[in-house]
Amino acid sequence: MAMDYFTDERHESLRAEVREFAEKEVRPHVARMETDRQVEFELSRAIARRGWIGVTIPREYGGLGLGHLAKTVIVEELSRVSGAMGAVAQASQLGVAKVLHFGSAAQRHKWLPRFASGESLPTIAVTEPESGGHVLGMAGTARREGDEYVLDGRKWFVGNSHIGDVHGVVFRTGPGSRGLSAFLVESDRPGFRTGTLGSQSGLHGFSFGEIVFENCRIPAANRLGRESQGLDVAYSSSTLYGRLNLAAVALGIHVAIVEDTVRFAESRMLYGKPLSHLSNIALKLGEMQSRLMTAKLAAYHASHLLDHGKACDAELMNAKLINTEYTLDSARNAMEIHAARGLQAEFHIERYLRDATHLYPPAGTSDVQRLRLGQVAAGTYGKQWSVELSGLAGWAWSELAQREAQAEADAERSMRATLLSIPLAG
Ligand SMILES: Cc1cc2nc3c(=O)[nH]c(=O)nc-3n(C[C@H](O)[C@H](O)[C@H](O)COP(=O)(O)OP(=O)(O)OC[C@H]3O[C@@H](n4cnc5c(N)ncnc54)[C@H](O)[C@@H]3O)c2cc1C
Repeated sequence: MAMDYFTDERHESLRAEVREFAEKEVRPHVARMETDRQVEFELSRAIARRGWIGVTIPREYGGLGLGHLAKTVIVEELSRVSGAMGAVAQASQLGVAKVLHFGSAAQRHKWLPRFASGESLPTIAVTEPESGGHVLGMAGTARREGDEYVLDGRKWFVGNSHIGDVHGVVFRTGPGSRGLSAFLVESDRPGFRTGTLGSQSGLHGFSFGEIVFENCRIPAANRLGRESQGLDVAYSSSTLYGRLNLAAVALGIHVAIVEDTVRFAESRMLYGKPLSHLSNIALKLGEMQSRLMTAKLAAYHASHLLDHGKACDAELMNAKLINTEYTLDSARNAMEIHAARGLQAEFHIERYLRDATHLYPPAGTSDVQRLRLGQVAAGTYGKQWSVELSGLAGWAWSELAQREAQAEADAERSMRATLLSIPLAG
């Protein structure tokens, strides 16, 4: 089992489990998913039933309690075979965040075990036609009427829009930045419906379409956090889960690009020798490998810091930036190395390129990450979400800290025992 600086046996056995599932249960469907372009209901549910949506949910709620690095490994391994199925897992794991961080005790007890078992799939729905990066531009409203809220508006590009069972939706309850609030809306509520799927060029099998709220009444108890905390719910989910999750999808696609391209360059003969013997091709392969190593390091390091409750907003931004950009760069190199064959579906490279392109907009485009990193450099970056919420999700990390403390104590005990057993001279 190959471990690196950040992963331990539990991460690597999880990786082996997900890889086996992806190879046996997902790969045989990839070609069909590309041609059918339908939402992959059954496969998405099969992934959820493995418990992988609940990887950051503490064990007391039925989750795996393994944290963010384990989440990165799961999404990476699924995405290595299918970016679409990696996207399904990451979108629902992202939907978990708001309940973990802002849910009341009743909401946590009701929903977390269902997410962990795969019985219910959550989403997070913030984007509207006029408000993507500009979250405050949203127009959908939630109006309080007695013990209920009445929701009106539409969200689009919502990850798992058509398979989600409970949507974490942010709507306007008033003006300005404190005028947003978040709610849980079950998909069988009257006044809720799914809308168009959109005509995306990639991630076929993953739904990220429209959901519509028309005079949709929900109990006031479905509000997440306080009224006015909607922006916090949106930003924190995107910062702590979204950036890393999309970095992990990109990482999995990047691994596949490098594996497939190396195999191709070694098997295609040109001038009586493998293509990889041409110096320009060898240089490109070296560049791709270098990018992949740096991208992986950025994603794993950020996951590790998050698991240990350390301030890491900048590392999370950088993980998203490096992974999306480097994967796109390597996809372009792979297209060049495959030349005309890269355009043919059976070589997969054009799929990797299309899928990787989808990772640029969500959880902050690369330009948005660069602007925020510029603020970090200038010392003007605002709230550190990784610190702000480390207490709220402390039970997830404390398990990890306890394990590490136990391992340290065991090591010290065994060292003392060894020292005592050495006979003292003269
Ligand atoms: C695969 C995928 C999954 C998604 N999943 C979800 C989901 O689960 N839930 C959800 O709510 N949404 C989701 N989205 C939507 C996503 O969050 C938005 O696409 C994103 O916020 C960008 O919005 P936009 O596409 O409208 O672009 P815009 O915000 O209109 O951006 C257009 C351009 O302006 C630039 N720009 C925007 N704001 C700034 C700024 N402040 N400073 C400088 N430049 C700026 C951008 O970099 C970009 O180049 C998903 C999208 C995709 C593609």
